[in-house]
Amino acid sequence: MTDPLHKIVIVGGGAGGLGLATKLGKKLGKKKKARITLVDVRKTHFWKPLLHEVAAGSLNAFEDELSYLAQAKWNHFHFLPGRMCGLDRDDKTITLAPINDEAGQEVVPERSLEYDDLVICLGSTANDFNTPGAVDHCLFLDNREQAERVHTTLLNHYLHAQASHEKSPELNIAIIGAGATGVELAAELHFAAIELARYGLDAIQPNKVNITVIEGSERILPALPARISSSVHKQLQKMGIVIQTRQLVSEITNKGLNTKSGDFINSDLSIWAAGIKAPAFLKDIAGLETNRINQLVVRPTLQSTLDDHIYALGDCASCSLTNSKGEPFTIPPRAQAAHQQAELLTKSLIGKVLEGQAPLTFTYKDYGSLISLSRFSAVGNLMGAITGGDMMVEGRMAKMFYISLYRMHQVALFGRLRTGALIIKDFIGKTTRPHLKLH
Ligand SMILES: Cc1cc2nc3c(=O)[nH]c(=O)nc-3n(C[C@H](O)[C@H](O)[C@H](O)COP(=O)(O)OP(=O)(O)OC[C@H]3O[C@@H](n4cnc5c(N)ncnc54)[C@H](O)[C@@H]3O)c2cc1C
Repeated sequence: MTDPLHKIVIVGGGAGGLGLATKLGKKLGKKKKARITLVDVRKTHFWKPLLHEVAAGSLNAFEDELSYLAQAKWNHFHFLPGRMCGLDRDDKTITLAPINDEAGQEVVPERSLEYDDLVICLGSTANDFNTPGAVDHCLFLDNREQAERVHTTLLNHYLHAQASHEKSPELNIAIIGAGATGVELAAELHFAAIELARYGLDAIQPNKVNITVIEGSERILPALPARISSSVHKQLQKMGIVIQTRQLVSEITNKGLNTKSGDFINSDLSIWAAGIKAPAFLKDIAGLETNRINQLVVRPTLQSTLDDHIYALGDCASCSLTNSKGEPFTIPPRAQAAHQQAELLTKSLIGKVLEGQAPLTFTYKDYGSLISLSRFSAVGNLMGAITGGDMMVEGRMAKMFYISLYRMHQVALFGRLRTGALIIKDFIGKTTRPHLKLH
């Protein structure tokens, strides 16, 4: 028997998709006005902007992950685990790849899932631009498992040094890419080096951890205003972090990085944090328009350019708008953009299902950017409603705003009351845990 309810399928429960599923579940699913289904390849949600903290060990991912099944139950939507691998626009179905266990045995066969409206929010991964050696010799930071691998590899270097009795061992860490991810990771790793020595893993002294950040542009944080870039640059230098700009990495080996200018940078631990690309299977999927980094091209309504029933948001979507001066710009791949797009689609889809309304048009409000420099500081700018303009913030105040970004994400998922309870839980937890995950 076919389901008479309007079927909204959301693929990808990340910064944008999970908030959308939660709100549509509460507004439409609860009243049986539509059937909301969230599909994700993982069983738990973890907010991606915290991954660099997991990598350094300053955050234990298990304490902050959220079960999709539980969130679905609490908020009246359905959760289906699975990896989207295909789309049939004529049949209005998506294909989910088989699920195998660790030994490769099939647990769930390939399935298809019908939709009336499909929202694709699959996020992005780092773009290594096919640099030779990157896949074999770099670690990445695209999901929780990868971030944990960075942490484990870091700890293994420390354990090895501790057991080897080598005199004054060094650890060379190279981070490729000085966007927000690379810069924040560098500061977190500097913090980790201090803390690991404090907790007794002191064979490698903090001043023997050589962190180098390599950036192709002429300054770090090229997407942010120059004054933020310059302030962060100075603070990283104070921590002893080496910054190499205008350097393009040409090859990565197990000893380090070769650059196009002919330099060699020693590295025991290389982490790729440059560029983004959407999942490869999206490239021209079912004849939809995509760009050179596999993002689905969408109109300002967030509908794909060629299909009114397919929407895309967040990092896997390319959405171009014009600003108040009439200049074109593309929405940046950031959590605040995914969140705002999810808010718009919530209203659009509710209007469509309940009133048969046409989809709304997206306008992007840039509230500014904040860069966290671990426990040491934060730097950024706040724009618009909060400040009445563009205001640079640094230190404790900036850190407070930075933390509030995650809290706002939690409010979208849990409401204010439960977020308040989580803040108290986290505060108490801090007094009973070491400052760093040491295992
Ligand atoms: C270390 C780091 C720090 C960052 N810091 C900031 C910051 O401070 N501020 C900021 O604004 N942005 C930051 N970002 C960027 C931000 O995380 C992204 O812009 C944001 O998460 C994008 O949201 P999204 O919903 O598009 O995708 P994501 O949040 O990446 O979610 C995508 C979801 O899709 C699922 N998925 C992927 N493929 C499939 C598939 N084939 N089938 C089913 N499910 C699938 C994934 O499991 C995931 O749950 C940071 C990113 C990183 C990596």
